[in-house]
Amino acid sequence: MGEKNWAGNHEYRAHRIVQPKDFDELREIVTTAPKVRALGSRHSFNDLADTVADGVLVSTAALPADTRIDADARTVTVGGGVRYGDLARELQSAGWALHNLASLPHISVAGAIATATHGSGDRNGNLSSAVAGLRILTASGDLVDLVRGDPEFAGAAVSLGALGVVTEVALDIRPTFGVRQRLFGGVPWEAVLDRFDEVTSAAYSVSLFTTWHEDSVALAWLKELDGADTEIGGDFFGAPALTEARHMIPTMDVRNTTQQLGIVGPWSERLAHFRFEFTPSNGEEIQSEYLVPRAHAVDAIRAVRELAPLIAPLLQISEIRTVAADDLWLSSAYGTDVVGLHFTWLRDQAGVEAVLPALEAALLPLGARPHWGKLYLDADAVVPGLYPKLDAFRALADRLDPAGVFRNPFLTRLLG
Ligand SMILES: Cc1cc2nc3c(=O)[nH]c(=O)nc-3n(C[C@H](O)[C@H](O)[C@H](O)COP(=O)(O)OP(=O)(O)OC[C@H]3O[C@@H](n4cnc5c(N)ncnc54)[C@H](O)[C@@H]3O)c2cc1C
Repeated sequence: MGEKNWAGNHEYRAHRIVQPKDFDELREIVTTAPKVRALGSRHSFNDLADTVADGVLVSTAALPADTRIDADARTVTVGGGVRYGDLARELQSAGWALHNLASLPHISVAGAIATATHGSGDRNGNLSSAVAGLRILTASGDLVDLVRGDPEFAGAAVSLGALGVVTEVALDIRPTFGVRQRLFGGVPWEAVLDRFDEVTSAAYSVSLFTTWHEDSVALAWLKELDGADTEIGGDFFGAPALTEARHMIPTMDVRNTTQQLGIVGPWSERLAHFRFEFTPSNGEEIQSEYLVPRAHAVDAIRAVRELAPLIAPLLQISEIRTVAADDLWLSSAYGTDVVGLHFTWLRDQAGVEAVLPALEAALLPLGARPHWGKLYLDADAVVPGLYPKLDAFRALADRLDPAGVFRNPFLTRLLG
């Protein structure tokens, strides 16, 4: 077929991609194709969104998108294929907000929540944690509605596309708020390692950018709520506030990033690192990320620093972020606050696959869960054991998809 994911490091094996224009067309495809996978905006870096050679990838992007705000329930209901950037603008113009965004607003809602995509912030759960309800079209053609509190809801919110096609998602909303973001250059490693909790709790969202081998952490990227009680001055643990805007990858165009320098703007134009109207990040890249239980974060950071000589030749930049715990069965933050150690690699698949075993040997024993949508290997099949509710999820997938229409090689590796 020749179609690839956004990064171009995975060519889809499916024999066609379809974009139904209405629900009947979608149902016809789902109930007649031998194998189906829902495809979002193609921003994953592995074969998660793919299927087998006689299978069909189905995108919900062209389905009529009917955004409904329920002010009393404080939810917005959107089509699964809607991109966060479009939703954020619509919410903002109606005076509402989401609690957080990922680094890029270009991803689809259903695709992002399927993998527990996250932003940063000690008190911010991932994007899946904002899901209040889901409508799923199953392989039998039936619609299944689940709302928060239903026994199987926590299994369906992070679904890896295993249950069916998510046609609608209800998300929690709150009144709109303002955010200012500032970057600080050169945070001493001692501060990060010895005062980790103080560093990551200093603002609504804190991201640290490093290549691991520098003497200090290259950048701290802070997103502060407008009107927050505690304002950080011109110094962050000894690192000065930058007076010129910066991209986290020094060679990249700063115009791709959202407004910095402490200028307050709506959440919709600040919480993501990248502007909706520009290409995010480099494109010529592969990403990996490991979500470490917070209690082991400092040990994990020390371990990765020791691997810096191995990692450095392939690394463009790393980002350290925090995510609050949730109760979603396949969430990387299930049952524990986590710290994400993210790697934006050069687009060298073989090279990255050669360093991942050492990285995973250091991190997986600490309980680190790989990001479902990013490249990981798990050669020793440790990952299934990191999810206490995996058996329950398997049972849910078997019940909603008994013939395994949505089962693909990725899921077979995970679920058997
Ligand atoms: C430049 C870049 C920056 C990124 N930044 C972040 C970040 O800040 N934080 C983070 O956590 N991740 C980040 N990611 C990873 C990305 O957010 C995830 O991989 C996300 O899942 C991609 O969503 P998508 O819409 O592209 O879905 P796809 O990659 O197309 O699909 C992902 C999964 O979602 C399922 N899916 C898609 N649509 C549906 C549907 N309608 N119903 C059921 N299942 C569906 C697919 O079957 C598949 O299992 C980044 C990726 C890129 C390329």
